[in-house]
Amino acid sequence: MSPDTQKTVLRSVSVEGIGVHSGEPAVLTLRPAEPDTGVRFRRVDLDGTPEIPADLAHVAATDLGTSLCEGDVRVLTVEHVLAALAAHRVDNVMLELSGPEPPIRDGSFVAYFDAIKEAGLTDQGVPARIVEVTDPLEVRVDSGASYVVAANSNLRISATIDFEHPAIGRQFGTFDITRQAFESELATARTFGFKADAEALHERGLALGASLENTVVLDDHRVLNDELRFPDEFLRHKVGDLVGDLALLGAQVRGHIVADRPSHEGNVALARALAGQDRRKRGNGVVDIQRIMKCLPHRYPMLLIDKILEFEAEKRIVGIKNVTINEPFFQGHFPDHPIMPGVLLIEAMAQVGGLLLMESAEHPEDSVVYFMSMDRVKWRKPVVPGDQVVFEVELLQRRGTVFRIGGVGKVDGEVVVEGELTAKVMDK
Ligand SMILES: [Zn+2]
Repeated sequence: MSPDTQKTVLRSVSVEGIGVHSGEPAVLTLRPAEPDTGVRFRRVDLDGTPEIPADLAHVAATDLGTSLCEGDVRVLTVEHVLAALAAHRVDNVMLELSGPEPPIRDGSFVAYFDAIKEAGLTDQGVPARIVEVTDPLEVRVDSGASYVVAANSNLRISATIDFEHPAIGRQFGTFDITRQAFESELATARTFGFKADAEALHERGLALGASLENTVVLDDHRVLNDELRFPDEFLRHKVGDLVGDLALLGAQVRGHIVADRPSHEGNVALARALAGQDRRKRGNGVVDIQRIMKCLPHRYPMLLIDKILEFEAEKRIVGIKNVTINEPFFQGHFPDHPIMPGVLLIEAMAQVGGLLLMESAEHPEDSVVYFMSMDRVKWRKPVVPGDQVVFEVELLQRRGTVFRIGGVGKVDGEVVVEGELTAKVMDK
């Protein structure tokens, strides 16, 4: 089977068991899907059997596992089944799930890896989506995870973990993510947790299904399970998790990732950066004015951005508005005392911020940004004809498709307006 064409499972196969966080039983059935479907979850226990695409736009949370959401519907801890699918290079599959969380089984990836092996694969003859890293990339998140990616003909992951625990310490290794290597080196590596954290997690409704049957548990001194499957099982599991989180890209990644203390949060940030680099490479970036005109639904007289000066995907954007006496609003605001209306300064800031958010959408042209709330808005100085307003907007927080951004507008370096906005990116 060619690695360059799309694949799905040959027949349906099910995995049954409890979820590690919810503690709830569920059956996960992998069903064949048409080309270009991607990987999708379907909650068959809920009215209307709602679907959630397993992609970056639907990431809901990344603390202790990666969860997805579409509106109020959630699926928790998706990374193990996604890793097994990625290892087998399955592009299209419907994951029917009868509860909130895929079964944890023994805490490793092997139940899913073996289920897919048992189902078999079929080649769908359509070109697969491939993200090939050409320019080096660096990603860092505040919690400490960092990544460097360089060109490589296949996915290769080098990772370091460092835990101040006598049974873990510092572990390092390099793994080529082929189907065979995943099976022999990563598939059976189990998730792990610290006994000292258990109570706090239970209070938050997490780790309710965790036990020695599905988790390597450590007290302050040692591993409580009978034995480890590899001396560096902890590292291997983290590498498997990274493979699963990267699958949210909806494409095979070809590149060498060097990860330092990888986390789900960092893995998802890395996947977003890779997606952004790939879009820009394909000429789908949104940094020039023509792209802005295409992506922003606004037109004269409501288009309030003239130019984007700086752009850092998933981080910040700087745009300008040259305010001239010819602006239509000056005719009435006010006839002999022209001042740019304060709400239009917020609108201009929202338009600049909207572009930052739209860049995160898979198909910016088909997406629209709806603003949901604004906070801490302050107008500091009036804006008059001849002023150039520079809007600096940065991403403060992201939860699934809901974003919080903070921005300031400055004239000659002095703040004229500031505020925080919440917005949702949706399909048109
Ligand atoms: Zn895991």
